[in-house]
Amino acid sequence: MQYDYDDQNIFAKILRGEIPNTTVFENDHALAFEDIQPQAPVHVLVIPKGAYVSLDHFARDASAEEQVAFFAAVAAVCDKAGVEHGFRAIANTRTHGVQEVPHFHMHIIGGAQLGRMLPAD
Ligand code: 5GP
Repeated sequence: MQYDYDDQNIFAKILRGEIPNTTVFENDHALAFEDIQPQAPVHVLVIPKGAYVSLDHFARDASAEEQVAFFAAVAAVCDKAGVEHGFRAIANTRTHGVQEVPHFHMHIIGGAQLGRMLPAD
């Protein structure tokens, strides 16, 4: 699989400081910020600072240090965000996964009872 990163995507612009964000947590390799259109009381996006288009790209090519830092950011968000009763972590990927922004991001969604993961038939 070849992953082509578009550095004009909106999260690349956030990382370069060209677009403002409401930061929840940051470390050397990851940034967590509020989603601009929250789907629940808690809706935070955790992104790596490196140029990875998707979860599978990140899992394959990110260094151990980047991967540890990413999950440290996830842990910090879960600790701070008010999701002690649970949450959902989502990484929409490419077209079948309906990914809008082609920079890997994990949605941390919670703060209220959520519906089913996928619509029931
Ligand atoms: P995706 O469908 O790619 O998994 O989700 C992209 C998410 O990025 C959406 O939930 C959308 O609301 C959020 N988003 C898009 N543009 C911006 C922005 O400029 N700032 C922030 N904070 N979130 C954004």
